[in-house]
Amino acid sequence: MQQEYTISAIATPLGEGGIGIIRISGSTAIEIAENIFKPYNAKKNVLSFEERSAIFGHVIDESGNIVDEAICIIMKAPHSYTCEDVVELQCHGGSMVMQEILSLTYRMGARPAERGEFTKRAFLNGRLDLSQAQAVMDVIQSKTKASLRVAAGHLNGQFSKKIEILRNEILNLIAHLEVSIDYPEEDIESIVLDEAREKVDSIIDEVQSMIDSAATGIILREGLQTAIIGRPNAGKSSLMNRLLGQERAIVTDIPGTTRDSIEEYANIGGVPLRLADTAGIRTTDDVVEKIGVEKAYSYAKESSLVMAVFDGSCSLQPEDEELFKLLADCTGHIIIIINKGDLDQKLDDNYIREKINISGLGNITEIVNISANTGAGVESLEKSIKKLVYGSNSEGQEREFVNDARQKDILLKTIDLLKETRLTLAIGMSEDFVVIDLRSAWEKLGEITGQYLSEDIIDHIFKNFCLGK
Ligand code: GDP
Repeated sequence: MQQEYTISAIATPLGEGGIGIIRISGSTAIEIAENIFKPYNAKKNVLSFEERSAIFGHVIDESGNIVDEAICIIMKAPHSYTCEDVVELQCHGGSMVMQEILSLTYRMGARPAERGEFTKRAFLNGRLDLSQAQAVMDVIQSKTKASLRVAAGHLNGQFSKKIEILRNEILNLIAHLEVSIDYPEEDIESIVLDEAREKVDSIIDEVQSMIDSAATGIILREGLQTAIIGRPNAGKSSLMNRLLGQERAIVTDIPGTTRDSIEEYANIGGVPLRLADTAGIRTTDDVVEKIGVEKAYSYAKESSLVMAVFDGSCSLQPEDEELFKLLADCTGHIIIIINKGDLDQKLDDNYIREKINISGLGNITEIVNISANTGAGVESLEKSIKKLVYGSNSEGQEREFVNDARQKDILLKTIDLLKETRLTLAIGMSEDFVVIDLRSAWEKLGEITGQYLSEDIIDHIFKNFCLGK
């Protein structure tokens, strides 16, 4: 189905590049291409080319002036990304030339595409379900191979298939119960109800294991917010550099956060850690440093993982004691790191253990000895982080992990509905009531793939996309 308006947008990042792509989708897309693109083979016009062929030629403005040299690719409905007529113009990737061609498409009647509108049209036209559509952005934003595995599993429909299998199990159970409603012979009824109890229990287990996978899937998609804290000179920056490693670091500007610093992603065995350098924890009268310390405090408190670094070559300092107070306020997991293992050790591990017990720091995962300088012990630190993130979820199974809070929330609500079904069965209500409960669970699950969703939720999901996707 073609939407009312033809849309266009720049589909490649703005800046200078070898090529840049302008994408046009909608019922007048080919007509627009006809007006602004002149094939090199002047005897032919755009319409006369076979669909999905690449045509070399020039982009021209209303006066016939050449704007750029380009390749025009035509994909006719429904064989395109959006299932509408789509034209992609591959031009030179300069921001001026791209803007110029984009405004030409507007002058020919296209309107600017909203964020994610191409993918939204693909969803509305049934080419992708909602979980697949969400995965398009996840593939683009993947930071590690494991993150990509989650995203790819969602995009290729592996995850949706799992949801469909669950929904079919519920539907089969409904059908089974409905037969018994139609033929109410008592002995059959009790057998059917016994089977239904067993089946509902097994579906609850399956949904629960999907919910369990969310803890890992969401981190692989969003990154694990991690703070490295400790007193000045404990070795925080050295540890950060060690974890980042040259080729593993991805620097991003995270907009909208209160911090104006750059966050960096470290790839820890496939787990993306969102690291921010924090100021050394100490009491200071220096105004600027004070702000830095306060930021470090609030960052640590908000982080899901805190790495508290101590200098193993010195005995505990008053600032380290400060750190224990801060750790008591942290809600995330804490790993205690005793650094500078290559030097003579003066720090007493047992004292630290005692201190942890006294302060009631229940969320400390473990104490790890490392040397940020030589790298000794860093591998076991990485293993601890990985263990923390994966828990009982298996590496390699990421394609089926739940990977966002919306999906997890739907599954939690589904479990509640299935537990209600279980209760209805337990108190001996008739099959009709069991069927009503099961139908609600079946519909709820359908929200993951987008079968039962209001327009504003759908709009909200696509608003998080980038322009041109
Ligand atoms: P920060 O202030 O906590 O960020 O500490 P830095 O990473 O800047 O390190 C402070 C000093 O400790 C520097 O001179 C580092 O070279 C040194 N340092 C850091 N880690 C180690 C280590 O594992 N072994 C040794 N010998 N020195 C280290």
